[in-house]
Amino acid sequence: MEGDGPAKGEQMKALLLLEHAAVGINDGKIAFIGKSEEAKSFHANIVIDANGKLVTPGLVDPHTHLVFAGSREHELTLKQQGVPYLEILKRGGGILSTVQATRKASEEELFTKAKFHLDRMLSYGVTTVEAKSGYGLDEDTELKQLRVVKRLQNGHPVDLISTFLGAHAIPPEYKNNPDDFLEKMLRLLDTIQKEKLAEFVDIFCETGVFTVEQSRSFLQAAKSKGFDVKIHADEIEPLGGTELAVELGAVSSDHLVGASDDGIARLAGSDTIAVLLPGTSFYLGKEKYARAREMIEAGAAVALSTDFNPGSSPTENLQFIMSLAALKLKMIPEEIWHAVTVNAAYAINRGEEAGRIVIGRKADIVIWDAPNYAYIPYHYGVNHVNTVLKAGKVVVERGRSDATISVS
Ligand SMILES: [Zn+2]
Repeated sequence: MEGDGPAKGEQMKALLLLEHAAVGINDGKIAFIGKSEEAKSFHANIVIDANGKLVTPGLVDPHTHLVFAGSREHELTLKQQGVPYLEILKRGGGILSTVQATRKASEEELFTKAKFHLDRMLSYGVTTVEAKSGYGLDEDTELKQLRVVKRLQNGHPVDLISTFLGAHAIPPEYKNNPDDFLEKMLRLLDTIQKEKLAEFVDIFCETGVFTVEQSRSFLQAAKSKGFDVKIHADEIEPLGGTELAVELGAVSSDHLVGASDDGIARLAGSDTIAVLLPGTSFYLGKEKYARAREMIEAGAAVALSTDFNPGSSPTENLQFIMSLAALKLKMIPEEIWHAVTVNAAYAINRGEEAGRIVIGRKADIVIWDAPNYAYIPYHYGVNHVNTVLKAGKVVVERGRSDATISVS
């Protein structure tokens, strides 16, 4: 995975591989990459034997809704019975039930729960994660969510990148005047900036939520204050969110299931990363997935993410998303690996720090119980992690248990 910048189009097909290789780490950073024979001259205090295993950069999950309260397992039965989402919303379910629970929860409760999910992401080999607010839809709760992310940034081994998604939905109290709600959310930006609570601002641009025009002026206002922007774009209908992302120079445009031909062409000609979330189509039982093949053939840089959230994608397992990308987006293993490492890092402005094994870079490394890189998307639904190193330190150790299970 050499070269600078994200891997675009055809470049996603070429992985740089070393066999019988070794990685040396000094002071938390990569200090040596080469043949294991050559590594013998490298003096090491600790040696981890990865013989027969796959070693890759730590995975990057560039789109999660990490901080929320409650869960919505009862809605699964309603969905099975064919109750439409709008009806679930009317009965007080859907996103609004998560908003209510999150408003009620204390910061401590939210912290404990978010940490639980983040620990699990790390156990799946994810060493850098983006986290959005957006389940408060009022000043206090949005700030409470962002402060939880900040606390985790300071204490958790995973690198967290924070995004303000106050414009996630229209709260019932602003049903008839969404513009006033957006104004209210914009007024929070000064506090967010002063307390360094987020570096990105995101909006849900979709029929029935926020229009392209509202999204444009909201994100322009955020940009004028120095924030980088992202868009939840064209998840359901080709509204023009993808085109807007390119127009605004958004760092990423996310979802894109309904992206138009023109949107895909513009994306390919831009630096905006296409973040695809096949877990959402899968979990909502839809047939339609984002057109990853067209995007890659057009020359776009594609990334993958869990979209971890309590409604449309309750999973921390990015490895499972890699399998979905193979089966539903028809991505090949080489493309999938770029999409969960280097391109995912560029989707959150961390392309120069995460997603590649490069000398001098922080040693975020995963050792997998897998004979090769194609094995991970192939053998689906389980956790293949053997060991995770974050900044050179072993933070997850699996598959090296002392306990022996005897078989009689
Ligand atoms: Zn999302």
